[in-house]
Amino acid sequence: MSLLSIKNLLKRYASATGEMTEIVRIASFQLSAGEQALLRGESGSGKSTLLNLIAGIVAADEGEIVIDGVDICGLSESGRDARRARSLGYVFQNFNLLDGYSCIENVELGMSFGSGVDRSLARHLLERVGLGNRLDYRPDQLSQGQKQRVAIARALANHPKIVLADEPTGNLDPSNAKTALELIQSLCRENEAALLLVSHDASLASSFETVIDLEELNETKHGTEAIS
Ligand code: ADP
Ligand code: MG
Repeated sequence: MSLLSIKNLLKRYASATGEMTEIVRIASFQLSAGEQALLRGESGSGKSTLLNLIAGIVAADEGEIVIDGVDICGLSESGRDARRARSLGYVFQNFNLLDGYSCIENVELGMSFGSGVDRSLARHLLERVGLGNRLDYRPDQLSQGQKQRVAIARALANHPKIVLADEPTGNLDPSNAKTALELIQSLCRENEAALLLVSHDASLASSFETVIDLEELNETKHGTEAIS
């Protein structure tokens, strides 16, 4: 059985002129436990929307998103929040760290919504991403590459079954981008988490066994539909 299984997923958003536009329309998509997949798509093709649907941050209009046997589309918002905290890690392009908190507190905050604060695990994860000597630094005292490494440590903090990564190398220089990608991939392997990484950057394809083009995955989207 797949760890993640999507069927007939549909998400529409209202455009600036008020017409409903189909942003995501996927007939079928599966991710196995421990699999690492790159989902490639141009800017505006719905990558972030798809990850937010899988994470349960936004609700689908139609379809199923079954994660580890549970269809999150059938859950309330608080139910989706609880599942996200327990089974998903999320790495964002812009890191999304909390400025008022140190590195280790950022990782621990992630834990407090999920499996519970475990300071020694938080320290271990930060050491693993090369920040053992920065535990008490705040995000504004870190470089871009270091910030993304904190976010990677945080994404693994709740023993996730799936890590979602949204253009995680997009705001980094080539050297830091390479390090971040290697860390995400090796930490997911070590922790037996599956990885679904979305990017517009086709050069990442050589690092993945599974590469999917979102344009091919998206069924023909009906451009616009008038609101009835
Ligand atoms: P990508 O991550 O591939 O660049 P997004 O998922 O961010 O694409 O956006 C896909 C499309 O959905 C864009 O045209 C965007 O304007 C639209 N969109 C995203 N979020 C919203 C929203 N909250 N309300 C209305 N339109 C949105
Ligand atoms: Mg995006």
